[in-house]
Amino acid sequence: MTRRSVSTPAARGSGSQHALRAANVRRIEQALRATGAMTQSALARTTGLSNATVSNLVRVMVDEQLVTTSATTSSGRRAVLVQLAGGSRRKVAVGIDIGRGHLRLVVVTPAREVLADVERTLEPGHRAQDTVAIAAAVLGDVLGDLGIDRADVLGCGVGIPAPIDRHTGRTSHGAVLPEWSGYPLREQLAAGLGVPVEVENDANLGALAELTWGGHGDVTDLVFVKVASGIGAGLIVGGRLHRGRDGKTGEIGHTTILEYGPVCRCGGRGCLEAIASGQAMLALWQASRPTQPATAESLVRHARAGDPTAVRIVEDAGLALGRVLGGVVNLLNPQLVVVSGPVTGAGELLVDSVAAGLSRFTSPVVAGPTRVTTSALKGSAEALGGCALVLRGAGDDAWASVG
Ligand SMILES: [Zn+2]
Repeated sequence: MTRRSVSTPAARGSGSQHALRAANVRRIEQALRATGAMTQSALARTTGLSNATVSNLVRVMVDEQLVTTSATTSSGRRAVLVQLAGGSRRKVAVGIDIGRGHLRLVVVTPAREVLADVERTLEPGHRAQDTVAIAAAVLGDVLGDLGIDRADVLGCGVGIPAPIDRHTGRTSHGAVLPEWSGYPLREQLAAGLGVPVEVENDANLGALAELTWGGHGDVTDLVFVKVASGIGAGLIVGGRLHRGRDGKTGEIGHTTILEYGPVCRCGGRGCLEAIASGQAMLALWQASRPTQPATAESLVRHARAGDPTAVRIVEDAGLALGRVLGGVVNLLNPQLVVVSGPVTGAGELLVDSVAAGLSRFTSPVVAGPTRVTTSALKGSAEALGGCALVLRGAGDDAWASVG
């Protein structure tokens, strides 16, 4: 398998020099993926590395068959043109989002063009090993339809609604997929899919997708909040995904906001998730109209039409979200809070309520300039974020390679 680009250089030595070299090799690869063939001088400008460093690294990368070089001229002077090995073949990044009831798979090119975006329904309580097999089958079908060889998949970023230990690639105990706790997801997916895999919390991937595809301009600091069966946040700080010590950031769903509130599935009481998650909203909606099916779609539709019960459910959830996000915003001072999930169809009603909660519970100096919006990426955000993870390069040792 030729996925040396993401795994081999770092694995070859443990010293800081090796790690630095691996990081610099990855910067060069990313620049080439984004732009295509470049001269060594252009690579130096793009990556911020010195000409000498680029020249040395390119020599090593030629030896490792990662790139090829050819003579060219630039501004009338002789120059060395560098391109990724096999650069004429179409490379792609794959993103997969696994939820309680769905699997979504997106394929993009390094130029950020979306080639495929498909969704499959999953059985409630689906088991990890079955879902890995489904993911492998869907990937095989999609690559077959696109006529893309598996060897041309740069990597696959996979999101699940649970905290992930980024050192081990195992799922930590999460309330949304409790039966997946401790499963070696990264290794099993890499073996099943036959491509290098990285696993991330889905809200983290949503945050990365907003940075790449969200259309927010030059945003460097944003909070992505996923309001679905659970509530989680992904944090972009200074243009980078903030992962904390071992990747378990943004667990805002289990912030207590009502000391003697409803019992939460995490074992706590009065957690944000027990009050403002999609599931909590639908439970209230169902209780108010016991004879009719309560769906996110019907809640949103009635809220938009001004039904007072539906409006109250969405507004109260938005206020509670805003209150907890207030602490996050006070701490991080982001430019943007992006709210995502099935109920975001309620649009301004939800956004205005979150903003109201923010301004009530946050320093006005901080909350004032923070924009709240819903995600324009809808259900694709997390899977797109998986692609962004691949194209941006993951953590040094985070990839499970297949060979
Ligand atoms: Zn909880």
